[in-house]
Amino acid sequence: MYPAIVAIDGPAASGKSTVGYGLARALDFLFFDTGSLYRAVTWAVLDGGILLGNEPEIGQLAGEIWIEIQPPQPAPQDGRHATVLVDGQDVTWQIRAPEVDRAVSTVSAYAEVRSAMTDRQRQIARRYGSGQAERPGIVLVGRDIGTVVMPEAPLKLYIEATAAVRAQRRHQELCEQGKEVAYAQVLADIERRDRIDSERTHSPLRPAADAVRIDSSERTAAETLAAALAALRTVLAA
Ligand code: C5P
Repeated sequence: MYPAIVAIDGPAASGKSTVGYGLARALDFLFFDTGSLYRAVTWAVLDGGILLGNEPEIGQLAGEIWIEIQPPQPAPQDGRHATVLVDGQDVTWQIRAPEVDRAVSTVSAYAEVRSAMTDRQRQIARRYGSGQAERPGIVLVGRDIGTVVMPEAPLKLYIEATAAVRAQRRHQELCEQGKEVAYAQVLADIERRDRIDSERTHSPLRPAADAVRIDSSERTAAETLAAALAALRTVLAA
């Protein structure tokens, strides 16, 4: 399958990262969660005290900061799929904070932020996709991979689920991490993020015309992965 690129898109908590990680393991491809780039910029904005409405300064920052995504090292064993560094500082867990959750869609809608992050994703995707890296391919997971970043990917998946199911999953995750948040709040946050991500002018969230759509609402993680593997076999057989 060349270019050896799998593009996965979908809304928050649809199960796309779980499928993407499972596919990457099955294929020995690199797993690249592109949301972590947007989260890293957002973390830097909040850390620098920049107002969320200050588009020029945020755009400039996105062009200047150095974000590195490293494969997980044997230690620390804290469940991370990758280590995220911003100008050398490990922010792997800071970028998952609720403040970042709430601000990330605003930051991601800015044209300069998108163009800086899209360039970065394409560089990485082309290196892996052409067989010139230490892994034979790459799985990119995000919102606009199949439509904008890598429309040439031979396999494009769009993973969706109802907002209620996605909020339940996210709520359960937060409870397991000992964070007390009301379900209604989690649902409201997810719906707000969906709205901003899908209504923005630049590369809004939507399935590519040729994406295989998988609804994970009534599927277990294993069943969703099985549906993704079936789509992969169809592409390989074509
Ligand atoms: O996937 P995750 O929830 O970590 O993404 C965080 C946010 O980053 C999304 O809500 C969206 O605003 C933005 N994003 C994006 N394009 C991508 C990946 C993420 O706009 N390719």
